[in-house]
Amino acid sequence: MKQNVSIIGAILGAALASCAAQAHQADDPLTRPIAPDYAQRWLTPLPPAHVHGNTYFVGFAGLGVALIRTSDGLILLDGAVPQAVRDVEANIRRLGFRVEDIRYILTTEPHWDHVGGVAALARDSGAIVVAGAPAAEVFRTGRVGSDDPQSAHLTPFPAVANVRAMADGEMLRLGDTTVTARATPGHTAGSMSWSWRSCEGARCLDVVFGASLNAVSADGYRFSDPAHRTVVESFRSSFAAMRALPCDILITSHPDQFGLDARYRRFQAGEQPNPLIDPNACRAYADRAEQRLDARLATEAGQAASPGS
Ligand SMILES: [Zn+2]
Repeated sequence: MKQNVSIIGAILGAALASCAAQAHQADDPLTRPIAPDYAQRWLTPLPPAHVHGNTYFVGFAGLGVALIRTSDGLILLDGAVPQAVRDVEANIRRLGFRVEDIRYILTTEPHWDHVGGVAALARDSGAIVVAGAPAAEVFRTGRVGSDDPQSAHLTPFPAVANVRAMADGEMLRLGDTTVTARATPGHTAGSMSWSWRSCEGARCLDVVFGASLNAVSADGYRFSDPAHRTVVESFRSSFAAMRALPCDILITSHPDQFGLDARYRRFQAGEQPNPLIDPNACRAYADRAEQRLDARLATEAGQAASPGS
């Protein structure tokens, strides 16, 4: 009888603990959804896959998240939205890796769509979060400053107190792998792209994880405003930097904005040669972003020229 009571007690205790765990999970402030209806457009699943050498894709059709395997642990690039963290972690596990082995989370820009999930991923893995210096500042509060062209539109994201800031050209070494920070400001002041070498047998390729380069803003913001001259100059230098990068494979932070999702599906269907390998990808990415900025500046000039509009 005493044994039965203790068994029932153990079962009850376990049930209560699991309820508590579920309640805790449901109420996890770091994975609380941000704008779930709006964000859903980015979260079309893509099966996680080995891209080349040390490089893996663990993100979505509309949000790039990449993983680098090194001889001394994993490096994650970007963290998507908070509500996608469990899916990112599931993708990592499906590839046979452990979330706890992520040592660094490198980030492209401090906007909620790309880094809203980073606080939860850093907590779950114990990884160090890395960003460009101006982005590291934003991480401390989760709120962008008024210098961000989209500041009036942007939703805050879970903050990360300790973020390691890296400068343009600085290298992060982990085990057998070196990742180089490539500053690509404009879309945000702290935007950072990342590049590394990925070898498969004798075939070594240069991989770039490209930050957003598109000129978008909140309503009423004008890139042609003289006060925003440095933003436009930042864009121009970022386009030049992106064009100059050694680049065989480009993974963009919004794959569907550059047709990467379609290439990825062709890759997964087994197409040869590998449609993800394109030595012109970074140049084409910069060209398209520059056309977009020029079109935007032309539109603003037209608005300024037409009275009463
Ligand atoms: Zn953004």
